[in-house]
Amino acid sequence: MPDVVLEETQAAIREVPGTCLSLLGLSHRSAWFQSVVEEAEEHFRALLRLPREYHVLFLQGGSTQQFAQIAMTLLRRGGPASDYLHTGYWSGKSLPEARTQGPVRVVWSGEADGFRRLPADAELDFQADAPYFHYVSNETVEGLQFHRVIGSDRVRRICDMSSDFLSRPVDVSRFALVYAHAQKNLGPSGVTVVVVHDDIVRSVPDGLPSMLDYRCHAEAHSSFNTPPVFGIYVTMLVARWLRSAIGGLEQMAAINASKAQQLYRAIDSSDGFYHGRAARSDRSEMNVVFTLPSARLEDEFVREAELAGLFGLAGHRSLGGIRASLYNAVTPASVAVLVDFMRDFQARAVQRVPEHVYA
Ligand code: PMP
Repeated sequence: MPDVVLEETQAAIREVPGTCLSLLGLSHRSAWFQSVVEEAEEHFRALLRLPREYHVLFLQGGSTQQFAQIAMTLLRRGGPASDYLHTGYWSGKSLPEARTQGPVRVVWSGEADGFRRLPADAELDFQADAPYFHYVSNETVEGLQFHRVIGSDRVRRICDMSSDFLSRPVDVSRFALVYAHAQKNLGPSGVTVVVVHDDIVRSVPDGLPSMLDYRCHAEAHSSFNTPPVFGIYVTMLVARWLRSAIGGLEQMAAINASKAQQLYRAIDSSDGFYHGRAARSDRSEMNVVFTLPSARLEDEFVREAELAGLFGLAGHRSLGGIRASLYNAVTPASVAVLVDFMRDFQARAVQRVPEHVYA
């Protein structure tokens, strides 16, 4: 979280300005909370330049619930298959969830290559009768990011933007639905933001449990049941910060690009000591995933980094290696500290490890 958001949150836990009450005690039925939801929505609409026919919903259940809820809304057993991409760990998790509701066709899978690259347009053929096409814009575990919108404009495009939402501008009008849990760029865990076209909200089938029905949440302005008040409040503060302190998504994207460039440059100029995992054209600006010459050196790297005040650098448990996540709140200065640490670690390791070990 940005420092200023942490400070405001800390103060609000004692007392939300103008209410005489703690953030942790305020009712979701209060006029104050209604104004928080309205302000959060207004910031999302402004940041994304959102057309009027989209709803902004603050839901629970994480992105994992969206994997199923999207399919419950649009996929039918016995009907045409939805098109999915399998580009990494998280898109892989979306497939079985969707299959509980109906047929799924995997248009392209990177599994055989160990998810080291994303498909080119020429490798993708989409079905015109698919109820929707689903993909993940940024594979958080493998560090792969699409730098373009993919899919056919004739089929509803749905995107899991959990790990790069609000990190760069996005033309939401090209999507029927985008979703992102808050815990990367938007706020604390417990909130999932769903931006959904009114067509989908109106086509929710009857008979779904209310909590899985976008219509209920849209009609109730994200307060159908008790929402995560704390998480929505902090998400509102982050969106306010993005607009007022950063200046919007173009500015955020420029900062994020320069952070990622700094780090990839350090990897590429390390004579192979650090090795970037993803194909260059598909490198993520959010999750920089790389390896060292051995698992032992990687363990040492993570341990020594912590002593230097750099935390959370171990790769995902499914993959190992190192992962530096450069979400919006990570400052260019802290990336510079990491780059200095990497140079220093390499210099010390090279003295101990003969060059042929990693050449
Ligand atoms: N999609 C992506 C791209 C993710 O990175 C994650 C988790 N980090 C998920 C889905 C699952 O999110 P959740 O834990 O909120 O269900």
